[in-house]
Amino acid sequence: VITVLAWISERQERFAFLQELLVSYQSQELTRLNQQLDKIAHEDALTSIANRRSFNNAAEREWDIALREQRSLSLLLLDVDFFKRYNDTYGHESGDKCLQSIAHAIRDAMMRPADLAARYGGEEFLIILGETNATDAMLITERIRQAISELKFERNEGNFSVTMSFGIACSDNTSHIKTEETLLLEADSALYHAKNEGRNRVCIA
Ligand code: GH3
Ligand code: MG
Ligand code: MG
Repeated sequence: VITVLAWISERQERFAFLQELLVSYQSQELTRLNQQLDKIAHEDALTSIANRRSFNNAAEREWDIALREQRSLSLLLLDVDFFKRYNDTYGHESGDKCLQSIAHAIRDAMMRPADLAARYGGEEFLIILGETNATDAMLITERIRQAISELKFERNEGNFSVTMSFGIACSDNTSHIKTEETLLLEADSALYHAKNEGRNRVCIA
């Protein structure tokens, strides 16, 4: 009888141990899936930079700060020049790689925690620069424009580069802070000017 009882007790212990192991595994798996979901929800699938949803969240946060603390704020709209031609010439896959390199160059140019670059869609990107006035936004954007135009892409034994056009809109601390929609419209019309004036340039609203 003692042997049987000992056997049962040992079995129960083993069973409890295995159950503990299973629970720990399930909890790890749940954490991993949650992290994956979070990544899908906030990152652009092609470029791994922020997507529009995270941009909207960040923009809302920066707007609140700007409003509360009367700080300036700049919004940049970026568009790759003649990208349709790029795709037609080098293929869609090369186009994708080009967008990835551009996205990483843009992300690497962000210097402060309040700056955020996101893919807006297609070959367009958005940047929000918290606590940044028009003069500084111009300087930063010019630096990004330069960095992108210096990227080298290799194809058919040749080196070539791509350029981008930029539209900037600013809400400064002296005037009533503009809404996000107004700034986006202004940045869009500044970008339109940059395209019309020959591309590969920065225009400010
Ligand atoms: P513009 O200088 O006026 O901006 O000319 P554009 O050719 O860049 O503009 P257009 O809007 O005519 O074409 C945009 C092109 O971007 C068309 C589309 O094939 C390409 N594109 C958009 N999204 C992607 C993408 O995710 N991958 C690739 N490879 N191409 C894309
Ligand atoms: Mg476009
Ligand atoms: Mg374009």
